[in-house]
Amino acid sequence: MYDIAIIGLGPAGATLARLLDKKYNVIAIDRKNSKFNKCCGGLLSPDAQKILAQFDICLPKDVLVNPQIFSVKTIDFDNNIVKYYQRFYMNMNRKKFDNFLISLISNNIEICSNSICEEIEKENDIYCFTIKTNGIKRKERAKIIIGADGANSIVRNTFYKKNKINRYVSIQEWYKDDINSPFYSCIFDKEITDSYCWTISKDNCFIIGGAFPMKNSSKKFEKLKEKIKNTGINFEKLIKREGCLVNLNKGLMSTCTGKNGAYLTGEAAGMISPSSLEGISYSMESAKILAEIINESLTNIGQKYFLRTLGIRMKLILKIFKMPFMYNRYLRKIVMISGIKTIKRPFV
Ligand SMILES: Cc1cc2nc3c(=O)[nH]c(=O)nc-3n(C[C@H](O)[C@H](O)[C@H](O)COP(=O)(O)OP(=O)(O)OC[C@H]3O[C@@H](n4cnc5c(N)ncnc54)[C@H](O)[C@@H]3O)c2cc1C
Repeated sequence: MYDIAIIGLGPAGATLARLLDKKYNVIAIDRKNSKFNKCCGGLLSPDAQKILAQFDICLPKDVLVNPQIFSVKTIDFDNNIVKYYQRFYMNMNRKKFDNFLISLISNNIEICSNSICEEIEKENDIYCFTIKTNGIKRKERAKIIIGADGANSIVRNTFYKKNKINRYVSIQEWYKDDINSPFYSCIFDKEITDSYCWTISKDNCFIIGGAFPMKNSSKKFEKLKEKIKNTGINFEKLIKREGCLVNLNKGLMSTCTGKNGAYLTGEAAGMISPSSLEGISYSMESAKILAEIINESLTNIGQKYFLRTLGIRMKLILKIFKMPFMYNRYLRKIVMISGIKTIKRPFV
């Protein structure tokens, strides 16, 4: 019997596991392996950098990739406008970042990597769950279960089905970039998606991706490639295609922190920016708060966690208010033409 079971070791789960007091008997399960990794832009925002700074964590150089980015080219196909905006992200290798966070977890925590949590049930006040590793199943029990398992959270799907959240499909393709021409952009096109698309360069690779409504997501992605091709980009040497669900928290009630021993943190809780899809900072922040509460005591966790994450929910609500200025083509046109915060590029 474990005190706590953490499902998922992305930024949320790894932060939680790192911060939990050694007095607890903790198991952490993560399905990542050499083939399956998180589909992500891998950009570390200033908010995420600040949370790492609070813990005095410095990133090793090999987590970063080439090139580092100072601006984003914003392409508005709806209004035919292109503008550049300053950005303060760190461009990194997401897999190495996750592995780095996992390497900081102390070894009193039992880590089951390359393992899937398949089923969870509540029996009396205990959570019983099945872990599958290399085809072999085992059953375990814990007093508390924590879903740090991202957009398609088994904990959320099992216990909080009624707390609905919009789910989009994210697709990314990686191409070899032989001419090494860095291209970080953010693309708006109503015909393709009511969210947004992007291109990023990483270590001689060119990545193109987007977040699409579930219906016809692959077709929309192909349409995106067509449009980008017309701007002169070549899609020849495909390295890999990846995809995942992404929680698009468009309503005020889509976040869910959990209760009665089953809690959610990070994207599983709906803590991801609906405007930019930036989520690493919210995941680490919510996990930090949950760890602080659990370390105080195991009583009243749900209520305390709900209250102390109010600040995060407020931030997300502000992002929802910002969305029309990004996603409504007329408002976006006004913002872009106004030139507010744009970078003038006289030689381009
Ligand atoms: C295409 C795309 C691009 C993005 N780009 C950025 C970006 O550039 N910067 C940024 O800040 N945010 C970005 N985000 C958002 C960011 O990736 C997420 O918000 C963040 O990863 C959430 O962290 P998490 O720890 O909550 O969940 P995740 O990172 O999703 O981690 C969940 C973990 O749980 C594991 N897991 C899931 N189910 C199970 C199970 N049943 N059993 C065992 N393990 C399980 C997974 O393997 C994974 O390791 C992007 C999202 C997408 C989809």
